[in-house]
Amino acid sequence: MPEAVHVGTGKVRELFALGDERLLLVASDRISVFDVVLPTEIPDKGRVLTGLSGFWFAKTRGECPNHLLGLREDGRSTECKRLEMLPLECVVRGYLSGSGWSSYRETRSVCGIALPEGLRESDRLSDPIFTPTTKASSGHDEPLTAEQAAELVGQERYAELERASIELYRFAADYAAARGIIIADTKFEFGVDEQGQLVLADEIFTPDSSRFWPADDYEPGRGQASFDKQFVRDYAASLGWDKTYPGPELPEEVVAGTRARYVEAFERLTELSFDDYLADPEVVLR
Ligand code: ATP
Ligand code: MG
Repeated sequence: MPEAVHVGTGKVRELFALGDERLLLVASDRISVFDVVLPTEIPDKGRVLTGLSGFWFAKTRGECPNHLLGLREDGRSTECKRLEMLPLECVVRGYLSGSGWSSYRETRSVCGIALPEGLRESDRLSDPIFTPTTKASSGHDEPLTAEQAAELVGQERYAELERASIELYRFAADYAAARGIIIADTKFEFGVDEQGQLVLADEIFTPDSSRFWPADDYEPGRGQASFDKQFVRDYAASLGWDKTYPGPELPEEVVAGTRARYVEAFERLTELSFDDYLADPEVVLR
């Protein structure tokens, strides 16, 4: 077993190299809102992200190859193939929300994709759309048109990313819908292995990378209650915080409420108890 050498710090994860070909991604309990890491942590959040991603990587292996090699006993560490990451955030939207909704209101389009007139906030789109963004090393990711995104990775790779992203979204959205959760939108990161093969990486279908809405509460024409960070975003917005560093401390009830939402998303989607995951993380891979 090669020694783990620290090679990077993301907003949420610490990255370690395990030799030349593998990485250890360790998900912390840090939470970022509007790309700002808050001073308060959410206990077990990193374990929920790691467990849910592992679960989905195992479930979607047939749709698209991915980087997962194994989960460690701490429940927050993923061993994976080290890839050359592509410089795009592959966003898929099945519903009109967040920056997609803002863009639609201004231009009736999202990332250059024209949409029908008369859509309301949170409306379901007749077909999911692929709306990639830049992968900013600091600050906010910027929306791209299909042409701009294709320029960054090449036309052929772009088409492959779009196809894989939409297919993965459809698969998980159907799976989650059957368990009472709407995946309104999501984001993937892909890399390329030594053979030039496209490989799904990072985290997938977690509350950090996706908007999860409880289906029984869904009603278009307004913002939705959610399992994800919206709860924290709403709290932060209620303070009139200007979305720049430093972010606000979170009070105990917001911490507890957020933790409960993360754990609930985990349990509803995996149909496993979070305690069973803590006892043996690889239970999500079976
Ligand atoms: P940033 O790196 O911009 O801070 P982030 O805050 O989303 O983004 P984290 O999620 O904390 O980052 O850390 C994960 C990092 O690891 C990301 O930069 C991601 O692109 C990278 N990554 C994920 N999987 C792989 C992989 N298999 N090979 C190489 N890099 C990977
Ligand atoms: Mg990330």
